[in-house]
Amino acid sequence: MDKNLEILISIDNLETYMDDLNDQKYIDKIQELGMTIDTKALASLEKTRSDLLDELTPNLKREYLRLKKYYQNSPIPRAIVPIRFERGEGFCFGCSSKIPAEVFQRVKKYHTIERCENCGRFIFWPPLP
Ligand SMILES: [Zn+2]
Repeated sequence: MDKNLEILISIDNLETYMDDLNDQKYIDKIQELGMTIDTKALASLEKTRSDLLDELTPNLKREYLRLKKYYQNSPIPRAIVPIRFERGEGFCFGCSSKIPAEVFQRVKKYHTIERCENCGRFIFWPPLP
């Protein structure tokens, strides 16, 4: 798998987790269970995220941050999304557009960095190794 793609996926996972930790409903639920959120842990996640971003090529980092910002208030606030598989075809999880067959095959086989033609998000094929 492309090293940059691995990093993008790691950043996405981290951000999803960090969003939970910043979500008041999630925090309330945790506290109901008698646990607390460690704010120091959140700071260390933020540090890891910024280190990972710096490992990307400058172009990819810029694109990722631009997409993240652009989609931050959309129903799928992510810059990289998995491909959804349905009836033999691949669809973007972000905007539901069909992924052209040749692009889908390439992502599936080589895990190259590709983007949805419609929404521009980076796409990847699960399951991950
Ligand atoms: Zn899309």
